Amino acid sequence: MKHLRISISPGLRALAGPAIDWVWRQLLTAVGYGWQEVSITDPCDIAYTTETDLAGEARIMILASPQYWQTPSAQRLAGLVVNDPCSPLRYNGESLALTLCKEEDGRFRLERDIIFDLFWFLTGQEERCWPQDVHGFYTLPKFWQMERVLEQAPASAIIEKFGALLKQAGFDEPLPRWPQGRRAAAAITHDVDYPEVIRWLEPLRIVQRQGLSGVSAAWQVLTGRRDHWAFPRWMELETNYGIRSAFYFVARQGSLLEYARGTPDPFYDVTAPRFRELFRTLIDGGWEVGMHASYLAYAAQERFAAEKQRLEEAAGTAVMGNRHHYWHMNPANPDETLQMHADIGLLYDTSLTHDRYLGWRRGSTVPFYPFTTHSVATHSSREIGAVQLPVAWMDAQLSQRADLSQPQREERVIALVDHVAAQRGLFVANVHDYVFDEALFPGWLATLRAALERITARGDFWMATPVEIAAHWRQRYQQLLSSSRGLEEGR
Ligand SMILES: [Zn+2]
Repeated sequence: MKHLRISISPGLRALAGPAIDWVWRQLLTAVGYGWQEVSITDPCDIAYTTETDLAGEARIMILASPQYWQTPSAQRLAGLVVNDPCSPLRYNGESLALTLCKEEDGRFRLERDIIFDLFWFLTGQEERCWPQDVHGFYTLPKFWQMERVLEQAPASAIIEKFGALLKQAGFDEPLPRWPQGRRAAAAITHDVDYPEVIRWLEPLRIVQRQGLSGVSAAWQVLTGRRDHWAFPRWMELETNYGIRSAFYFVARQGSLLEYARGTPDPFYDVTAPRFRELFRTLIDGGWEVGMHASYLAYAAQERFAAEKQRLEEAAGTAVMGNRHHYWHMNPANPDETLQMHADIGLLYDTSLTHDRYLGWRRGSTVPFYPFTTHSVATHSSREIGAVQLPVAWMDAQLSQRADLSQPQREERVIALVDHVAAQRGLFVANVHDYVFDEALFPGWLATLRAALERITARGDFWMATPVEIAAHWRQRYQQLLSSSRGLEEGR
């Protein structure tokens, strides 16, 4: 595989060097190319520059927009230009009539700063001005909801279009993205929130949810004939599909009183014999035991690390992956929490999503190493060493939508699977441990089944546990990095 010769104009480096190098690393490794950075005056394959006459004989020239790099968070998405081959988006003030990609004698000119666009999506610039509720959950602007921007994964669309452009420009075949010649990847995950039912309380909640039709199931829960301990049934179901999932456990034991006072941690104790035995069964069978960081784990690194250690002791294994309960990273500064993942030794995290909206919060269906853009302590910006596995869908996002019928829910999740396949991305589903029971949660499991049936029928997905996917991504990333030269700022 030939390495791409990349040149970046010195003015851009001075303006946003670490951020620009980081974006290029994410882009080129996602597409599957190594690189060699060369001076702007040397012959190169791709020039990223502010002035067209600096591009020399480059086969691809990307015209940068320094004004955007100066104030990234000031840009607001005005629309998606879905049919344009070079750019899927448009900011406020940009003309719809822009000619975005020109070809002349086999050379391509992008008059669109796709490097900035990727930075803007992958660092979540626009969400910083959206309203947040008490848990830090954002409400998306109407346009984002109507156009289903998250479900389109615009950052991945850019990455795929750039890859197609490299092919069109005649560059060698890239390194394959996924093992076994597969087109895409998928992982099933379960947040373990409520495996041990509170027998005097839960029947009331069932009747509240389901009305009179829930009375029979509520009675069975009250009398102990029906419960939330669904692990054996999950294992049987997944074995039938030939897959293994990850279960994320909370190591900090909460209480009803704490819950009422606003710290909604689950009530179970991971050090109890029942859980120790469960961990052994899961691990022996090939399932992943991961961490579901408690609601306030992000608030202190020692607390976060202590939870990881407690779970590792109980499970008798190293914990490599995490998801935050309630997706609750520092609501004012998620970058700080993302950095903590690397600092406490996690291989990956899978918490970047919006609670109520399906689709990809940072616009990407492929894993990426995040970037801190406002590290308060050090004023530095740099790449974070724990890979992010972006979540496509959580059960409640569809199952709690009263405006959708069950067939419509299944249609939406199948569309996500197909979209991932089109973008050669990763499909991560989050289905809670306790929703397995059709009588207690009608339709919840059926939606996951619809996704699994589609993935199985397609036959082009690599199904693996999140830790296997993260390890693959790290190995591939390191392989490309170690054979490349330059684009090293912010590492
Ligand atoms: Zn949870």
